[in-house]
Amino acid sequence: MIKDNLQKIKASISEEVAIVAVSKTKPIADLQEAYDAGQRIFGENKIQEMAEKFEALPKDIEWHMIGHLQRNKVKYMAHFVDLIHGVDSFKTLKEIDKQAKKHNRVIHCLLQAKIAKEDSKFGLSFDAIEEIITSEELATLENISIVGFMGMATFTDDQQQLEAEFDALKQFFDIQKVKTVRANCALKILSMGMSGDYPLAIKNGSNMIRVGSAIFGSRNYIA
Ligand SMILES: *Cc1c(COP(=O)(O)O)cnc(C)c1O
Repeated sequence: MIKDNLQKIKASISEEVAIVAVSKTKPIADLQEAYDAGQRIFGENKIQEMAEKFEALPKDIEWHMIGHLQRNKVKYMAHFVDLIHGVDSFKTLKEIDKQAKKHNRVIHCLLQAKIAKEDSKFGLSFDAIEEIITSEELATLENISIVGFMGMATFTDDQQQLEAEFDALKQFFDIQKVKTVRANCALKILSMGMSGDYPLAIKNGSNMIRVGSAIFGSRNYIA
């Protein structure tokens, strides 16, 4: 099942689009099944759960933290996390930098942009993102690297609205991509699209999709 789902998704998208298999709430056996089918990037939204799965599974997996970050827990993943999608403050970047330094690593980060019209979604305004990536202080953070942006669209069936939200972030990304010159900020990744909206996200410029239920089946509770 998991293998078929993965193959179906892969067959429908360009090879240039990376698939993050969002495995939150799913048992190790399900992740192993995806791994055996060739999947190497997994996304989780709880640090403790991700750390447990990291311990249990093969070490060539790339672990992505996709959830909202609690700063005091960054230390529990700093030794292994590959990409943090949900960075939405300079303070958090500083904490990631501090923890990464302890392990002599550089942790890749995406700044989360608020593109949804709902109040419940976290994220930075485009102005706030620009402020961070142009700030003098960013240059002092040697153990983080900002490699792109992440966005979550409104939970709606309105295709036009979804498209407008994805497109707005893509336009902003393209402008910032050529403007940023810092050693620790090179924008390459645009993480947009989930099970329900990834085809539209890709059409609007996404090159990394975060897919959970379309691979692993629906989750028993909202996570
Ligand atoms: C859970 C989650 C996903 C995956 O959601 P599906 O609808 O199951 O594909 C993607 N991104 C984030 C940030 C999530 O929390």
